[in-house]
Amino acid sequence: MSRLVLALPFTVIAEPDTLRLIAGEDLRYTFRQRDIDRWGAALVEALRAPRARVEALARVEPSVREAASALLARLIEERVVVVDAPAPPAATYRVSVEGAGPLAGVIRAALPSPPREGPALAVLAQDTMDYAAALAFGRAARARGDAWLWVSEGPLARGFVGPIHLPDGGPCFGCVLASFRRLSPAPALLDALLAHGERGGAMVPAALDPAARAILASLTALKIDRGPRAHAAAFALHVLEVASLEVSAHPLWVDPDCAEHEA
Ligand SMILES: [Zn+2]
Repeated sequence: MSRLVLALPFTVIAEPDTLRLIAGEDLRYTFRQRDIDRWGAALVEALRAPRARVEALARVEPSVREAASALLARLIEERVVVVDAPAPPAATYRVSVEGAGPLAGVIRAALPSPPREGPALAVLAQDTMDYAAALAFGRAARARGDAWLWVSEGPLARGFVGPIHLPDGGPCFGCVLASFRRLSPAPALLDALLAHGERGGAMVPAALDPAARAILASLTALKIDRGPRAHAAAFALHVLEVASLEVSAHPLWVDPDCAEHEA
C-alpha cells in the first residue's frame, strides 16, 4: 500500500482558525477553516514520516476526520503531501542500454564498465518522440523488477534525461507524461503522438548536435552513478535546451493523474 509523506520540511504555524505551512522563502500555504488549528497541525505533523492515509487520519479525533480527509486531499493536490518513494538499492547498477541511433552508443561510451552483479538498470535511448514505446519499455522493466531510465533527443530543440524509475514504486514514465501534459500548450499533440506510436506509425528521428548529445550522455552516467546513494538529482527530470545548452532539473512525484498507478 502506498504511503504519504510531506514533500518538504514544512514549518507548521497554527493560529486561531488558520494553519500555515512554510518551507523556505518561496513555498507557503495558508488554510483557513473553523478549528483547523486544533486538528490540521496534528494531521500535518503525522505526515513527517511516511504513513498510510488511514493511519494519518487516525491521528485526529473522529469528529473532525471528514474535514481532515478533505484537507489531506487538498495537500496532495498542492503537492505538499506526496506518495513516499521507495529507497533505491545500495549497490551499483548493472546497466544495459537499448535504443536506435547514435545516442545509445554515446551513452554506452560514457558509462564506466558495468559490474557483473548488482540490481539491473535498463536505459532506453530514443531519437524520436515515441512515447508509447517508452511507456511500454517502462512497464516491461517494472514487470521484470528492474530500474530504468529514459533519455531522449527526439524533441529536437530539447533533450531529456528522465529520473531513475524504481520498480517498486515512485513516479513512472506515465507521471513524466502527465507533467508534460500539464505544461504543454498543445496537450492534444502528445495524445496524437501516443496514439501514432501505439499504431506502430513511423517517426522521423531527430539528429542532435553531437555536443548536446554528449551532455545528455554524461548526465545519464552521473545519474546512474548517484542513484544508489539516493542523490536527489538522480530522481529528477533533466531538460537540456539545445540552443542555449542550459540544463534545468525538475523534481517529480507520483502524479495523481497518472493512469499507470492503481488508485
Ligand atoms: Zn505514474
